[in-house]
Amino acid sequence: MSTVLYIGGLGRSGSTLLDRMLGRLEDVWSVGELVHLWERGLRQNHRCGCGERFADCAFWGKVGQVAFGGWDTLDVAEVLALKASVDRNRYVPLMVLPSLSPAYRARMERYLALLERLYAAVGEVSGKPLVVDASKHASAAFLVRRLRGADLRLVHLVRDSRGVAFSWTKRMRRAEVVEGDALMATNTPLHMSARYLGYNLLFHLLRRLGVPTLRLRYESLVRDPVPELTRVLGHAGRAPAAGELGFVGDGWVELAPSHALAGNPMRFRSGRVPLRVDEEWRGQLRRRHRLVTSVSTWPLLLAYGYLRGGGRDR
Ligand SMILES: [Zn+2]
Repeated sequence: MSTVLYIGGLGRSGSTLLDRMLGRLEDVWSVGELVHLWERGLRQNHRCGCGERFADCAFWGKVGQVAFGGWDTLDVAEVLALKASVDRNRYVPLMVLPSLSPAYRARMERYLALLERLYAAVGEVSGKPLVVDASKHASAAFLVRRLRGADLRLVHLVRDSRGVAFSWTKRMRRAEVVEGDALMATNTPLHMSARYLGYNLLFHLLRRLGVPTLRLRYESLVRDPVPELTRVLGHAGRAPAAGELGFVGDGWVELAPSHALAGNPMRFRSGRVPLRVDEEWRGQLRRRHRLVTSVSTWPLLLAYGYLRGGGRDR
């Protein structure tokens, strides 16, 4: 089985960008957010990064064939129900200590058997030794850790919590023009701060459990892409060859199409795109929201070097 470089972190932290940069490398295969394959690929038939609908994408068609003898051999509703009963942050303690619940353990083993076939098929069909999975979710990373034969390397991607909070309020504003967006209430800075703490602490726990973990700041990745990508590749056990990172320049990156699933709309952009740290929050985040976010997430802001005088970059 290939090495799985898993990008973990909260949404709006630059995971799609990192995923697409890594996908430019010759021996790397980017699958996007694999955790959403069952729902958005199999059930909803969303578009793959290549532009085709999931069911029409040749790559994913082959993966389904190799893994399961065709996607149609799976009962999608059953797989989704199984996933919902296994892959949740609240079950992380049982993923770590499955002996606490034999019933959970049995469900987890069934789901892991599916994932094992899926990841192995991605490795086989792509023919690449390094698979990048930008699923982001903490619980899914705990499951990948349990895959037999998978060599999991975690990139814990972090961003200033105030930038994350602002990004989620922006989405709320956009949502006003879309009828019936039920997520609006869940994107307040206070709610996002709680998620920021919860998610990031789960990634700290993974490191404690011995998963090789590299912490990467979104802001550093965008400001210094070449050294940061070199660091990420080193974490995955290889060094970039001379000129291999030539797709990144001063303030731009050249992206190419991929077969990445889910992720933000940037997934469909190709060619040269500007590389610029999004720090709109510094001028736009309301004072009250900034205060709430800073106060509730300060231990992590400090640990990640986001507070004045913190300065720790790595
Ligand atoms: Zn595709």
